[in-house]
Amino acid sequence: MSDSAFTTDGEWNALYIDGEWVDADDRDDIAVENPATRETVTSVPAATEDDVDRAYEAAAAAQSEWADQPPNERAGVVEAAVDLLDEHRDDILRSLSVESGSANAKAFAEWQTARGITARAAGFPFEMGGDYKDSMIPGKDNQVKQEPMGVVGVISPWNFPFHLSMRAVAPAIAAGNGVVLKPASATPVVGGLLLARIFEEAGLPEGVLNVVPGSGSDIGDRMASHPELDVMAFTGSTDVGKRVASQAAENLALPAMELGGNNPHVVTEDADLDAAVDSAVFGSFLHQGQVCISINRHLVHEDVYDEYVERLTERAESLPVGDPTDRDNVIGPIINEDQRDQMLDYVETTVESGATLETGGEADGLFVEPTVLSDATNDMAAACNEHFGPIAPVVPFSDDEEAVELANDTEYGLAASVHAGDLGRAHDLADAIDAGMVHINDQPINDEPHVPFGGVKSSGMGRYNGDAILDELTQEKWISVQREKRQYPF
Ligand code: NAP
Ligand code: MG
Repeated sequence: MSDSAFTTDGEWNALYIDGEWVDADDRDDIAVENPATRETVTSVPAATEDDVDRAYEAAAAAQSEWADQPPNERAGVVEAAVDLLDEHRDDILRSLSVESGSANAKAFAEWQTARGITARAAGFPFEMGGDYKDSMIPGKDNQVKQEPMGVVGVISPWNFPFHLSMRAVAPAIAAGNGVVLKPASATPVVGGLLLARIFEEAGLPEGVLNVVPGSGSDIGDRMASHPELDVMAFTGSTDVGKRVASQAAENLALPAMELGGNNPHVVTEDADLDAAVDSAVFGSFLHQGQVCISINRHLVHEDVYDEYVERLTERAESLPVGDPTDRDNVIGPIINEDQRDQMLDYVETTVESGATLETGGEADGLFVEPTVLSDATNDMAAACNEHFGPIAPVVPFSDDEEAVELANDTEYGLAASVHAGDLGRAHDLADAIDAGMVHINDQPINDEPHVPFGGVKSSGMGRYNGDAILDELTQEKWISVQREKRQYPF
């Protein structure tokens, strides 16, 4: 049964600060639009810089008492959140469809990954503790305690709004931090206020989590530079990430940055072509290509190039496009006009510079046809830019050395995939590709709650998931105990 308290199409006209749903009053409205139907589904108030200040103050004030709760208390709240994710699974799936244009497979995968990291985080309170180190000083004990960092600011994007908010929020709360979350303007409910509702219902004490929807250009600087901020957990584009990281660093807050990607899918001539194309279709077209770890470029050996292009084109043409609330549709809408226009421009420019449009290239409203571009080179617009669309430029290579050179010829280093018949060869390629994550005989879209997730080069700094995120959200404190009277030299 659907419960409108947990779906985007409910009533959300409030901010969530210090455990209270704060009325819109004279604040601006953010209209939440269903990108498939272009209807306004609900509206939320835009937080002001004063709201951001109050949110940080509330998080800082609530944090130490929360951190002092015994581990079973903190774990219990996060476990209750997991139960709510199960109970409201269909509400969350529906919200992902209407608010972020997610087809069923993507919405389900997003719910599942969010649930995975929340369940993993529920273990953190018991895993935190610390260490004991022998001392060089006679009669001394060295204790090393693991403590929360303090206040974690979270800024998240619209493409996987629920998961990319939750992967920071749940671990931060579990580890005893206070949190201020600013979701993307296109997805303020499923990336923001819905998390507030879940943790409120789960019994989280007031003030520990605060949610302030608002435009990045209005309140982003305040989010990143607030003096109470200790960790800035940002997921989004590299340009904005650099600005946010430098503002956070100004106050010596730790930047945890998950940024853009330009992920290559490398296919050698001895690869299983069926498997390589199956992977390619999923990795390029899941969520219309609006995934930081989706395939941005297909690098294919010249001996199998024509056949690969032909099969990929056939598969791209077979994908049903339309409103994702119809479960048969695989390709939903692009989030907004700006994103659509930019990706169509990349396609047009790429064709002008000599590539062949095998299929696609057109849009009907916000629905962009799955697009395959052959005879592409690495410097063409659809290849060298993070296109964030259902667009597959296919670039030929002649040997492994060239494949690696092409793969690494980008400022980014987030994810990659390699298909090769010989596993040793695949491993050599995976080793040589500069990326935080490389998947052999698969495609790059993978995210598991116990495995470190993140990029190198301009794709960011720090890692999510597993032990890595617990390390980022905690700090060590050394307490020593001198058991015997110490002998000083003077
Ligand atoms: P974006 O424009 O950088 O926005 C991300 C977030 O930053 C949004 O909440 C946005 O708010 C906010 N923001 C905008 N300007 C800001 C400012 N000056 N100060 C502080 N915050 C500001 O990215 P996007 O278009 O939403 O998402 C697409 C990008 O995210 C792609 O580059 C993609 O690769 C990357 N991404 C990376 C990962 C990863 O794990 N590495 C995952 C998903 C996405 P508004 O919405 O109000 O503008
Ligand atoms: Mg943006």
